[in-house]
Amino acid sequence: MSDCIFCKIAAGEIPSNKVYEDDKIIAIHDLNPMAPVHVLFIPKEHYCCANAINEENCDIVGHIFSKIPKVAKELGLENGYRIVNNCGEDGGQTVMHIHFHLLGGKKLKVDMA
Ligand code: C5P
Repeated sequence: MSDCIFCKIAAGEIPSNKVYEDDKIIAIHDLNPMAPVHVLFIPKEHYCCANAINEENCDIVGHIFSKIPKVAKELGLENGYRIVNNCGEDGGQTVMHIHFHLLGGKKLKVDMA
């Protein structure tokens, strides 16, 4: 999508602080970190949100989850971490290109609301 910021970052049109990349996904440090480690895992293909995931394309989610442990280990998250996906306005999603937050580097508070 031409006006999507994460599509532009994934295409290298906007610079980012990259921690991982392959042909399907990119992982970047969040510009406004909410924890000592805050990385975003972003598919290169545009999907608006979790509502766009179905039986045909769900491999991309598995691919992202298969890479998270490796990146987490490289970033020193041996004690654990949190993975977050915000979906839609009520879910707190602000960038409408699906992404998974990897948060860690401290004992995170449990706040589901
Ligand atoms: O889940 P949500 O859509 O709210 O998360 C979007 C995230 O993308 C935010 O944490 C924001 O700081 C991050 N962001 C970024 N670089 C941008 C735009 C947004 O790291 N250029």
